[in-house]
Amino acid sequence: ADARAALGRLVRDVPDFPEPGVVFKDITPLLADPAGLATVVAGLATAGRDAGGGPCVDKVLGMEARGFLLGTPVALSLGAGFVPVRKAGKLPGETHAVSYDLEYGSATLEVHRDAVAPGERVLLVDDVLATGGTARATADLVAACGGEVVGIAVLMDLAFLPWRENVGEVPVTSLVSVG
Ligand code: 5GP
Repeated sequence: ADARAALGRLVRDVPDFPEPGVVFKDITPLLADPAGLATVVAGLATAGRDAGGGPCVDKVLGMEARGFLLGTPVALSLGAGFVPVRKAGKLPGETHAVSYDLEYGSATLEVHRDAVAPGERVLLVDDVLATGGTARATADLVAACGGEVVGIAVLMDLAFLPWRENVGEVPVTSLVSVG
């Protein structure tokens, strides 16, 4: 309930960004608010503790770029490692890559091949779940490493978009559903 209130107060709707017709959820006021930030990080970490009903997660994967900001404190809180999932061409080591369709064009995400060991339990963390394409691609990267996605934790999901079709059976914890 605290996290919901913080999100309601501290996430700003920006109309027509990054393009006309899109209402962008701007989380920068939330990041700048010490109490709000602590509350939502705790909420996301609880999702990790509950994930799959099993033991704690081994790795938190954060998607570029806001998933880095939220995933790293969640990893610290869970006693897990943090792994960045990056856009194509940014990681220096050997990577797995997955391409996926966007509304216009496509995107590629990469992860270091040795960042997730076979059998490791992985929590995905990001700010917003929209179409679920980013989460789906990241789950495919975890699978390529031999890891197991035990949950997806986000601040907000856009309920009017069909993200569930993309993420399948993986448990999703969203601190607030929008729309
Ligand atoms: P999806 O792949 O689910 O369509 O989009 C989710 C990705 O795009 C996430 O990485 C998220 O950070 C970003 N994203 C999409 N819409 C928004 C938005 O309204 N606000 C923010 N902050 N990020 C968004």
